[in-house]
Amino acid sequence: MSQRISTYKFQTEARQILDLMIHSVYSNKDIFLRELVSNASDALDKLRLQALTNQEFAPLVDDLHIRIEKDENKHSLAVIDNGIGMNREEIREFIGTIARSGTREYLELIRGMKDRPIAEELIGQFGVGFYSSFMVSRRVTLISRKAGEEKAWKWCSKGDGSYTLEETSRDSNGTTVILELFDEEEEKGIRDYTDEWVIRTIIRKYSDFIAYPIKFSSPGTDEKGEKIIEDKVLNSMKALWMKDESKVSNEEYNEFYRHITHDWTDPMHRFSFSMEGVTEFRGLLYIPSKAPSDLFFSQPEEGIHLYIKRVFIMNDCRALIPDYLRFVRGVIDSEDLPLNVSREILQDDPRLTMIRKNTTRRVLRELKKIMDDDTSSYLGFWKEFGSVLKEGILQDRDNHETILDLSLFRSTVRDEPFPLGQYIERMKEGQEGIYYLSGQEMEKLKNAPAMEAFNDAGFEVLLLTDPIDEIIVNTITSFREKPFLSVTDGRITPKGRKEDMLDGIPEEKKRDIQLLVDQVKQDLNEKVEDVRISERLTNSMACLVTGHEKSVSPKMQKILKAMGQEVPHQKRILEVNPDHPVINLMADLVRSGSEEELLKQVAYLIYEQAVISEGGEIEDPAHFSRDLSNILFNALRKGSSGNAG
Ligand code: ADP
Repeated sequence: MSQRISTYKFQTEARQILDLMIHSVYSNKDIFLRELVSNASDALDKLRLQALTNQEFAPLVDDLHIRIEKDENKHSLAVIDNGIGMNREEIREFIGTIARSGTREYLELIRGMKDRPIAEELIGQFGVGFYSSFMVSRRVTLISRKAGEEKAWKWCSKGDGSYTLEETSRDSNGTTVILELFDEEEEKGIRDYTDEWVIRTIIRKYSDFIAYPIKFSSPGTDEKGEKIIEDKVLNSMKALWMKDESKVSNEEYNEFYRHITHDWTDPMHRFSFSMEGVTEFRGLLYIPSKAPSDLFFSQPEEGIHLYIKRVFIMNDCRALIPDYLRFVRGVIDSEDLPLNVSREILQDDPRLTMIRKNTTRRVLRELKKIMDDDTSSYLGFWKEFGSVLKEGILQDRDNHETILDLSLFRSTVRDEPFPLGQYIERMKEGQEGIYYLSGQEMEKLKNAPAMEAFNDAGFEVLLLTDPIDEIIVNTITSFREKPFLSVTDGRITPKGRKEDMLDGIPEEKKRDIQLLVDQVKQDLNEKVEDVRISERLTNSMACLVTGHEKSVSPKMQKILKAMGQEVPHQKRILEVNPDHPVINLMADLVRSGSEEELLKQVAYLIYEQAVISEGGEIEDPAHFSRDLSNILFNALRKGSSGNAG
C-alpha cells in the first residue's frame, strides 16, 4: 500500500460555503448528526438498490445498518455505515466540490446581505450537509471503501480550506466519519455530543423514521449482572407513511420532509392517501412553502421518492407526477410494482401510469381544498407555483378544466388574484363571455383605449400579463361554457352602449366623417385592413382591433417570434372616435379639400399613436418623428404668426 499523502485545496465555492457554515452564528449545531445519518441512510439505499440487479452485491445487504460510536477519552464521535461507499475520485468530487449551477452568483449575492444564511439554508441551497460536521469538530476524518472495490481511502480536514487524501484499509464496504469534537460551549450551542442522552434525543427528533437501525453501543449488564457493551437501536425505523396519522406529530412529518427534500422551510401543506384495487399504493405528499431554485429546470434534482414495499427505489421518479406538478414532494410506496426491474422499464409500467393518474387527481383535489378553505395560504401557493401549475392547462387534457378552476387571475376590479369562478359569479346581464386583455403591464392594460367602452358599461375585464395566459385563452377558448373574448377583438362590442355612435350628429357632419374615414383608409392602406367608426371609444382618439377569427394579438406575435415561429404580418382595423375634437377638425379639412399632405401625416400619427397607447412599439420611429416634427412646426408657426398679427 502506498503511503503517499496528497494535500488538496477545496474548490473556491466549496471553501466559501464551508466558511459561512462554520461561522454562522444562529445555526442549530445538532443538525450535523441528522445530516451524517441521512447521508449514511442514502448510502445504504444505494447499495440495496444495486443489489436488486447485481448479484455480486446481494451478500452485502443482509445487515444494512448505521452505527454511532463514541470515544470519551478522545472526545470523538463516529458515524459508520456499511453502504455503497466512495472511491478516491468520488470523495474528491462529492466532498471537495459543489457542482450546482448558480453557486457563484448566489455567493456573490449573500456577500452583500446583512443577515448571513444559517447552516440549514446553506444545506438546502447547495446540498452540503456533510460540511455541518465542521460546526462541532476541530477535525473530521472520513474513511470509505466502495462496494465491489478493494481499496479504501482516508480523507481528513480541519475545515481550513484544504484536505488530505491517502490510501488506507477498511474491512468491508462503507463509510466511517470520525469527528474530533470541540469542547462543550454553551453560548455557541455546542453540547456534549458523546453523551448518550444527547445523541438519543437528536436521533429521536430528526431521524426516527430512517429505515435502517441506528445502533449505539453503550455499557450495560447481561443476565448474570456482568458489565458488557450493549448495542441499542435508537430509532423506531417505521416508515412514516405506514403509521397511523394520529400517532405522528407535525414535527416528525416536517423532519421527514426535510430528510427527503433538504428544504429547511416547513412545507405549506401535507396529505396522505392510499389506493387499493388494481394496484395498491400509499402516498405521503407535501407542498413546499417556497419554490426551489431549480423549479424551472426541466429535470429538478429531487422529485417524488418512489418506494416499493418500503424499499427505496429512486428519488426523482418523473413518471409519478406530471411535469406541471413538479413542485410536489414526498413519497409513493407501491405494493405491487416489481422490485428488480430497470428504471426505464419501470417508467412504462401501466401500474405506474395508474398511480400517476390517481396521484394527479389527489393533488388537484387537495389544492382545491386549500383554495376554498384558506385563501391566504392559497395566494401564497399561487405566488410560488402558479405559473408552473398553469402549464397543466395546456398539458393535461383530462384535467384542464380543473386546473383552470384552480388558476388565479387579476382584473379591472380586483388587484388581488382571484379564481375564475368568481368572475363568472360577477358577470353581468348582457355579458357575452369572459372579457380579457393581454399585455405586459397591468397599468398599461388598465389604460388601454380598447378598454374604455367595457369600463363604461361596467364590465369586468381580466388583465392577462403572464405570456402563457394568452396561449391558454386561445387554446382552451371557454370556461364553464363562457367563451374567452378579447376586448380588442373587432367583432365584439360591449352591449349596453349606443349602437350607433353617429346618433345625434347632424347629417352633414356624418357625411364629412365618412369622407374622412375613406380618406384615412386610403392613406393607411399599407398599415391597416380597414378604418371604421368606433363603438368602443369614449375618450381616446383611436384604437386598433383585430378582425379575423384566428388573428394573433401583437403580444402573442412577439411570443411566437421569440419562440422562433414564423408569424405572418397581420393588418388590423383602425377605429376612430367621431366625438374626438381632432377627428372633427380633420373631417372639416377633408371637406374643404385642403392640406392633403398634412392630413396624410396626421392619419399616420393617429395610427402610430394607437399602437403606442396599447403599449406597442412604433414600426418606423424615424418616419414617426419626422411627421411629428412637421406637425409641431406647423402648429407653432401658426401660433406665432397669429400672435404677431
Ligand atoms: P448531500 O447529501 O446533500 O448531497 P453532502 O455534502 O452531505 O450533500 O454529501 C455530498 C455527497 O457525498 C453525497 O451526495 C454522497 O454522494 C456523498 N456521501 C456523503 N456521505 C456519504 C456516505 N456516508 N456514503 C457514501 N457517500 C456519501
